[in-house]
Amino acid sequence: KKKELMIYKEQPSVTKDGHHIEIGANIASPDDVEPALENGAEGVGLFRSEFIFMNRTEAPNETEQYIAYKAVLEGMGKRPVVIRTLDAGGDKKIPYLNIPEEMNPFLGYRAIRYCLVETDLFKVQLRALMRASVFGNLKIMFPMISSVEEIRNSKKILDEVKSELDAEGIAYDPNVEVGIMIEIPAAAVISDVLAKEVDFFSIGTNDLIQYTTAVDRMNENIKALYTPYHPAVLRLVHTTIKNGNAGGIWVGMCGSVAGNPLIFPILIAMGLHEFSMSPGQILKSRKIASLYTLEYLNEVLAHVLSLGTAEEVETYLKATFTH
Ligand code: PEP
Ligand code: MG
Repeated sequence: KKKELMIYKEQPSVTKDGHHIEIGANIASPDDVEPALENGAEGVGLFRSEFIFMNRTEAPNETEQYIAYKAVLEGMGKRPVVIRTLDAGGDKKIPYLNIPEEMNPFLGYRAIRYCLVETDLFKVQLRALMRASVFGNLKIMFPMISSVEEIRNSKKILDEVKSELDAEGIAYDPNVEVGIMIEIPAAAVISDVLAKEVDFFSIGTNDLIQYTTAVDRMNENIKALYTPYHPAVLRLVHTTIKNGNAGGIWVGMCGSVAGNPLIFPILIAMGLHEFSMSPGQILKSRKIASLYTLEYLNEVLAHVLSLGTAEEVETYLKATFTH
């Protein structure tokens, strides 16, 4: 079965009628680059940088981070590489960061909220990223954005880092794209506004489902309520894609839904441009894209959007896509 899929390895990702998308890999370390390429990744759509902060007793210094980012960029050659800045907190506990115990860690002091306070730590990461940027096609992404202010404050710190590098005569790529995760409903709702502030969006469905449905993504007792088929989730995803496209920026998805074989095809119809998933899902998804025309997928999408319950959506998609 795997062998059968290998014919898709060197091929572009296109629908049956030639509509082009990009399929990249989610990675957590430089060691993941090789398996990503072996599985036909056209880029890295999400490097979860917090993993290089985990299982240690102190934060990696600028040099250590630079080495890791450079390895990923060099390994991917000219292909795009989206590196997400530190997404600590919530489910990702990093003890030495001293994030206090909280009643609701998923709603707490985490990710960009932490980095905008601990700016010294944030700047070390941004310096390492910008220094590594000369070795490939880097895009920087901020996690857990809920407002315009957080974007502007993050970009201001990035500008400070660039000025400091300029003053020190250290080279970097001045054209590095800056984007945000859309994983909080507030961000999806104002995505028309946010599109004016950044170069791209990447939809994080793992958290977007959790926050939209108020279902803790780690809670086994309510896991039946944690569903990507909920019409509210699909509407927010659709809104985000439309607003991004209308605003002239590219929109991707790096949450698990990107690799869901039943939802993946309708995301193409929604106008999603870039998909990032576990390396093992890439070739299968490329094959699925090749099976359908955009016109057909538009019809399926229109029907999905007319349905009122998660169960109806799931049942319809299962009956429609037999791939
Ligand atoms: C997401 O929330 O969908 C996402 C990609 O980020 P993480 O799973 O790391 O929270
Ligand atoms: Mg997330």
